[in-house]
Amino acid sequence: MPPTPGHTASADRGDSTLHTQAHSELIDLEGRYVVPGFVDMHMHGGAGASYQNGLHDDVRRVVAFHRAHGTTTAMASLVTDAPDALLAAVARLADLADEGLVAGIHLEGPYLATNRCGAHEPSLLKAPDLAEFERLTSSSRGHLRMITLAPELPGALDLIRSAVDQGVIAAVGHTDGTAAHVRAAFEAGARVATHLFNAMRPVHHREGGPVVAALNDPRITVELINDGVHIDTEVARLTFTTAGPDRVALITDAMAATGMGDGDYRLGTMDVRVQDGRAMLADGSSIAGSTITMAEAFRRAVTEVGRPIEEAARAASLTPARALGLDHRIGSLAPGKDADLVVLNDDLTVHQVMKTGQWL
Ligand SMILES: [Zn+2]
Repeated sequence: MPPTPGHTASADRGDSTLHTQAHSELIDLEGRYVVPGFVDMHMHGGAGASYQNGLHDDVRRVVAFHRAHGTTTAMASLVTDAPDALLAAVARLADLADEGLVAGIHLEGPYLATNRCGAHEPSLLKAPDLAEFERLTSSSRGHLRMITLAPELPGALDLIRSAVDQGVIAAVGHTDGTAAHVRAAFEAGARVATHLFNAMRPVHHREGGPVVAALNDPRITVELINDGVHIDTEVARLTFTTAGPDRVALITDAMAATGMGDGDYRLGTMDVRVQDGRAMLADGSSIAGSTITMAEAFRRAVTEVGRPIEEAARAASLTPARALGLDHRIGSLAPGKDADLVVLNDDLTVHQVMKTGQWL
């Protein structure tokens, strides 16, 4: 059969090009910047709703809010919760991942260090449990894409190996481990450091801890919450200088309050109070996620941290896409990839967002 116009799959390359040109539209962006759609590999919620507690419509609200701020791909992160609640949340999110609303599920916990628990309920933390992990992966129907755990806990290395075998990215975080613990996790296949510096043993010049182990290993992607609250700007600068934009993944770690203003919220089982945009546990003991968008994290990387726009764009898009194994489809503006892009004004605020070729 000869190629049928309009069916590019059966058309040869020449026809396909003509076909595309016939349907292209020339858009004058009046000198604005265009960057790849942002990829947020660690995020809990926004617009008053969360992935954890929310029903389907709430999750749609979270996704729509962050898409409007340039995040065309987002993971759904879950904090520590009771086993049944976590299983139910994973199953619910698997439906939304089937629809393509979220790129995958990220389990942050429950296998975390109690003394680095941050905003996780300490009484629900436990040692890695392979049988429970199996239940979680099966209820995710293949959508569990990442798990953050503390590598010093008993059984952690076995869980990392099991995760990697099943195509789940292992990340070290909420850890009191030494550099040696973390290096062992990397040898077992862990490839991400969850919000570097936050909720982990700090750097000491005789014990570099997780931070130095991660920065020194070229295989590791380091997440950075570049909100000016979690990380001092100079420390963000040091991280970029050390790891480079191909290993720094800007994340939001955003919770429900993002885009909503000050007030009282929930993060998993924990009560959170937001004041002056800073989310803290209600008892004031820990920072509890952020209230920034990826657009803000990106803008700050340029205006505060001082990185060139191209580098900030890589850290906000290609680097997390690569860490998630999605860079064949997203993460840069290239023929054959999804047309996910953000148009930015001169002050780097979002002007317009396109997701798979459609303006939002
Ligand atoms: Zn988180």
